[in-house]
Amino acid sequence: MTQKILSGDQSMWRATVLTLFPGIFPGPLGISLAGRALAAGIWALEARDIRNAATDKHRSVDDTPAGGGPGMVLRADVLAAAIDAADATPDRPRLVMSPRGRPLTQSRIAELASGPGPLVICGRFEGIDQRVIEARGLEEVSIGDYVLSGGEIAAMALIDACVRLLPGVMGKLESGTEESFSAGLLEYPQYTRPQSFEGQPIPEILLSGDHARVAAWRRAEAEALTRNRRPDLWQTYANQKAPKNQTDG
Ligand code: SAM
Repeated sequence: MTQKILSGDQSMWRATVLTLFPGIFPGPLGISLAGRALAAGIWALEARDIRNAATDKHRSVDDTPAGGGPGMVLRADVLAAAIDAADATPDRPRLVMSPRGRPLTQSRIAELASGPGPLVICGRFEGIDQRVIEARGLEEVSIGDYVLSGGEIAAMALIDACVRLLPGVMGKLESGTEESFSAGLLEYPQYTRPQSFEGQPIPEILLSGDHARVAAWRRAEAEALTRNRRPDLWQTYANQKAPKNQTDG
């Protein structure tokens, strides 16, 4: 398969994906919030086939690992040629999805969403030749401490998280600012109708109409959840909240 231009022009936020499987895209990025925004021209997606940069008659993109070991490694020369052909604008972030990369955070997503949009490289096999990471200044990004078969699902997760922050994509401004991680906390529990579900009522305070009490309850719930589930986030939040030279448990 050759490259696919799915929507948009050069001026809008754009994700360019280098992959051996361009047919996977847009996949889930083509439906719901991200898909409607793609169709509306709020962002653009280009999935390019790394194999188009192969030069031998078999169009090979990988080879055995130097030093031995299982599997195959994406070749530096092929990937470098694919990057050079895809990206004429050096100010765009160049990311490579990798389990050994820096873990992706909401704050990095917000940075990426506020820029021109990244070039995202999807690894396969055992990964990619180290020399192309260094030669093309690639930033290794992980979506978690587990190993996927390829970078495409990781790239989709990253792009989806960026797209929902683009202006005009989410309906209400609040839906972005109150979410998990935005204020350093996990989100408070949500409820909706019916008022009673299998004998469990909605917490009374949420039906009180008292916005200040609702906000205080939500904040307390968010703090309790974060403290219990994510001590790492809680520590950072507590340190930021605490007056200087004082710690908060
Ligand atoms: N041999 C590699 C290692 O042990 O680190 C794993 C390679 S994995 C089978 C193939 C590709 O999937 C990687 O090159 C990367 O692009 C992608 N991938 C796998 N897990 C990932 C993760 N947690 N975050 C981001 N990308 C991941």
